[in-house]
Amino acid sequence: QKEIHLANRPKGMPTNDDFEFVEQDIPSLEENQVLLRTLYLSVDPYMRGRMQDSKSYIAPFQLHKAIAGGGIAEVVESRSDKFKQGDIVTGNLKWAEYSRANDQKIRKIDPSAAPVTTHLGILGMTGLTAYFGLLEIGKPQPGETVVVSGAAGAVGSAVGQIAKIQGCRVVGIAGSDEKIELLKTELGFDEAVNYKKDSFAEDLAKAVPDGVDVYFDNVGGPVTDEVFKLLNTNARIPLCGAISSYNKEEDLGPRLQSYMIKTSALMQGFTVGNYAAQFEAGSKQLGAWLQEGKLKYEETIVEGFDNTPDAFLSLFKGTNVGKLLVKVADP
Ligand code: NDP
Repeated sequence: QKEIHLANRPKGMPTNDDFEFVEQDIPSLEENQVLLRTLYLSVDPYMRGRMQDSKSYIAPFQLHKAIAGGGIAEVVESRSDKFKQGDIVTGNLKWAEYSRANDQKIRKIDPSAAPVTTHLGILGMTGLTAYFGLLEIGKPQPGETVVVSGAAGAVGSAVGQIAKIQGCRVVGIAGSDEKIELLKTELGFDEAVNYKKDSFAEDLAKAVPDGVDVYFDNVGGPVTDEVFKLLNTNARIPLCGAISSYNKEEDLGPRLQSYMIKTSALMQGFTVGNYAAQFEAGSKQLGAWLQEGKLKYEETIVEGFDNTPDAFLSLFKGTNVGKLLVKVADP
């Protein structure tokens, strides 16, 4: 069986050379462990940070060791009384075709309740990030204008729809005309603007005639600079991600905070883990909105374990719509 290891700490934009495929024996089990056959792997922008050896909220990946992240797997052998063969589980999994896990570290999921992939997206980490970041920090009020960057991605597409459920006017920012169309038609955004167009600054200003009350920031950099110029007094800014800087070697430095002074805006960084105690309630609400048809989700599924590094790299090119996943095997 194959695993994918981190071969180098990437400088700037990672490349395929930063990953190595390694043949390993299928691991044998100890008491309270299960053998897992990987079905889906989640590839996420935050993993870029773990490729660097720097202090963060989560430890760096080790060189020449398997990369790991969210995944869905089938139990193929069990030495645990909590799991049996055939159970479908989710947890932090190695980028490997097979892996073993301690029974404390994985959670069983019910494949009949919702498609299993939702546990890596709308009902899992990215959905919960949107839910808590928007509601706890953004505190959107009915009638307010909410702007979200990275709007057609996993987190952003959920943020916009949750803001609509709260009765807000919602404007998305994304990087292609197809994404803009999807946001306005399928996902119910009031407006959406393409940041790659030369007219981005004017287009954005036109899309928010009443200014910006909540800016959910997934990308940082020049996109965020333009939003800052449109902030209203007492705007709230959940600072979720800064993907535009993840492959930059230089520090971007302070940018346009003077707009925050003028508007008494509040910006708060967060990681979804801050809300771990409320995950169950959050997933339940997201699941209810899905059932009621108030919330939709998009997925981009790349087929084949060998394509996992390419899938990860494509996050920085913006080829995904909604949650990006790798399908490793059928259940
Ligand atoms: P997405 O599904 O949004 O995928 C990444 C998207 O980012 C791409 O599709 C691309 O879309 C956009 N992008 C890539 N490069 C740039 C750039 N230079 N400038 C602007 N946009 C860019 O990923 P996620 O939904 O998983 O994550 C979104 C953000 O949220 C990330 O920054 C991530 O790190 C952060 N995050 C934070 C969490 C937290 O706990 N704080 C938890 C989960 C995610 P486009 O075509 O529009 O350019």
